[in-house]
Amino acid sequence: MAKKKTGVFEWAEESVNIQLGCEHNCLYCYARYDAVSRYHRCTQEQWENPVINQKKVDLSYHKKIKAGVMFPSTHDITPKNLSEYLCVLRKLLDAGNQVLIVSKPHWDCITVICENYTDYKDQITFRFTIGSASEDVLKFWEPGAPNLTERLSCLEYAYRQGYKTSVSCEPYLDAWPSHVYVASEQWITGTFWLGKMRNFKSRVDFSKSNAVDITKYVVPLINAQEDSVVLTFVEQMKDWRGVMFKDSVQAVIDKHRIKQGKANAEAVVSGMMRGRGSFTGKSRRDQTA
Ligand code: SF4
Repeated sequence: MAKKKTGVFEWAEESVNIQLGCEHNCLYCYARYDAVSRYHRCTQEQWENPVINQKKVDLSYHKKIKAGVMFPSTHDITPKNLSEYLCVLRKLLDAGNQVLIVSKPHWDCITVICENYTDYKDQITFRFTIGSASEDVLKFWEPGAPNLTERLSCLEYAYRQGYKTSVSCEPYLDAWPSHVYVASEQWITGTFWLGKMRNFKSRVDFSKSNAVDITKYVVPLINAQEDSVVLTFVEQMKDWRGVMFKDSVQAVIDKHRIKQGKANAEAVVSGMMRGRGSFTGKSRRDQTA
C-alpha cells in the first residue's frame, strides 16, 4: 500500500529552501524547532537573523520534478531574501517545474513576483498562510509576519493578476477558521486547506509568553484542537468550495469514522441477538402470544 503523504508532502513532491532562519519567528514553527532544538544547527538568536545559503542559490535546478516543488518550506520570502528568491524561482520555472509558493506574504515581495513572472503564470500557485481572521491572534503567534490586511491584499493582487491562488489555514490559530474562509474566499481560485497545529507541546515556544497571553491565546487554541471542535469545523465547512482537510484533521475524521463504524457494527450485532427468536419464523409478538 502506498505510504500516506503528510505535512508539506501532501502538497508537493519536493521542497527547496535557500536560507537558515526566518524573521517571522512563528511560535509554532516546525523548522525553527528542528534547527534550534532538535538538530542544533543554529541558536534562537541566529534563527531570528537568517543567513542565506549562497551555495543553494547558485545550484542549477535544471531538473523537472513531476509532482511539483514547494518553494520555500522552511523559511519565508521577505524583502531581505527577495533577490536570491527571484533568482532560484526563475531557474525552477525555466526547468519547467510547477512551483507552489507558500508564504505569509509581504506586499513588497508578492507584487514583484507577480510582475516579473507573468510568462510563467501557468506554473505558479500562490498559497498564502492565514491562520486567523484576528490581527491580535496573528500578532501573538506570528510576531514577525505581515498582518492580516497585508496578506489579504497580496491574495487579492495575485488573483487579479491572473495567478492561481489558494489559502492555507494551517495551523488554524483560533476557533473561527470559517472567518478566514469568508474573508479570503472571493480571491481564491483553488483550494482552502484546514489543518491543526501539530506537536503542540513539543514544538511551541512559550518562553516569551506571559500569563495573560497564555489565557488569551494559548488556552483557547488548545480547546479548539479538541476532536469535538474539529468535527464541528468539518461538518460546517466540508461542502464549501475548495475546502480541503490536512492530514491532522483527516486523522480526527478517520478516528471517529472508525469509532462510528464499530458502534454501528455493534448495534447491528446486538439487534440480531435481540431478534434471534424471529429466526424461528415467528415474530416477537407471536412468541409471547
Ligand atoms: S513563516 Fe514559516 S518558516 Fe517562518 S517562522 Fe513562520 S512557520 Fe517558520
